[in-house]
Amino acid sequence: MYMVELIEKKRDGEELSQKEIAFMISGYLSGEITDYQMAAILMAIYFRGMTPRETVDLTMAMAHSGDMLDLSTIEGIKVDKHSTGGVGDKTSLVLAPMVAALGVPVAKMSGRGLGHTGGTIDKLESFSGFNTSISTEQFIRNVNQIKLAIMGQTANLAPADKALYALRDVTATVDNMPLIASSIMSKKLAAGADAIVLDVKTGSGAFMKSEENAIALAKAMVSIGNLAGKKTIAIISDMDQPLGYYVGNALEVKEAIDTLNGEGPEDLMELCLTLGSYMLLCANKADTVEDARKMLQNTITNKTALDKLAEFVAAQGGDNRAVYDTGLLPKAKIEEELISVEEGYVAKIICDKVGVASLILGGGRQTKESEIDLAVGIKLHKKVGDYVKIGESLATIYGNDPIKVKDAKICMLDAYCYANEAIPKSKFIKCIISE
Ligand code: URA
Repeated sequence: MYMVELIEKKRDGEELSQKEIAFMISGYLSGEITDYQMAAILMAIYFRGMTPRETVDLTMAMAHSGDMLDLSTIEGIKVDKHSTGGVGDKTSLVLAPMVAALGVPVAKMSGRGLGHTGGTIDKLESFSGFNTSISTEQFIRNVNQIKLAIMGQTANLAPADKALYALRDVTATVDNMPLIASSIMSKKLAAGADAIVLDVKTGSGAFMKSEENAIALAKAMVSIGNLAGKKTIAIISDMDQPLGYYVGNALEVKEAIDTLNGEGPEDLMELCLTLGSYMLLCANKADTVEDARKMLQNTITNKTALDKLAEFVAAQGGDNRAVYDTGLLPKAKIEEELISVEEGYVAKIICDKVGVASLILGGGRQTKESEIDLAVGIKLHKKVGDYVKIGESLATIYGNDPIKVKDAKICMLDAYCYANEAIPKSKFIKCIISE
């Protein structure tokens, strides 16, 4: 078999066999297939697509390219949750303790920030001493003892995804349905949970900008999960403006803690209740969505989810005093208001511009090696549908470098779009895909 023949085949719109896909993945990992050949076939896939069978074969080849975690020593049905990536998406920080507080084991593999989107692993490092590179043994022990552990992708978990993702990032082949589906599902299958709940974002801050494409992606991932014997459900949620009000690592941790104290924004709470309900149904902890929502809501009222977060932070070596006193989280030196120069109803907040503003401040990585500044970010005061007068504050910018603050402000002013009339609110949870 020769890679050039596979490139030709895909270039001409033909279907690759399971053997050919396996050859391509193992050859790339072993170094026999070069970056330029892999980049060529990725671009051919980008334009020609993949059949559902090819997408499943690619996912399986990537999932089996490294270790497959065995979580069978954890009692109960283990449920994992994964988001396709967004701006201000601190959902896991709220949802995981809520679900774990109800006794459902949450064994979660999370990522770092990617491009303009944030990552749970970076956010958790706002708790000083928090360790996300715990061993598999400790991961399993913690889930058994306290029902919750979160770790980063280990070097040998779906290594083909790691290598391909880095290549896709620099060859303009990220926002492609079969490539995203196989990337996410290969990691989820290798991470060993019994059931998977997916949060598929759609809108200006998501990789899938249109709802139609988000639904196609969700369907592809649900079908891969179910074929692999894992109960898989996808929720399509809005990412046309940031989730909640805060964007930036420690700032998002603060908003997650506020939410666990019952003082969270409506959209974030709704997303946690929806995703959490399906996690409880998958784990056979509730019979109906209505029951599950009530149970989850209770973990906020009785503060068991907040206490679970504190227990989890301590179990992974972090200083959990910040859970009860958010003033102890990393703080930026500069706080400046972003003043509106226009008047009208906020019609749109171009979400990826907000992500880029946070990146400019230092909240995300410009290169793979960059250190991130956990303290910086943005608090939005105006969201879609709000009326703004000239001179009012649109947002507070938190930074540690005056030049970066100035640049982030320019980017943020560009993110806000106005209309003369109030914009009807679009549905936040668009639909649920279960088969
Ligand atoms: N998240 C992933 O893990 N992979 C993708 O391709 C896109 C988002």
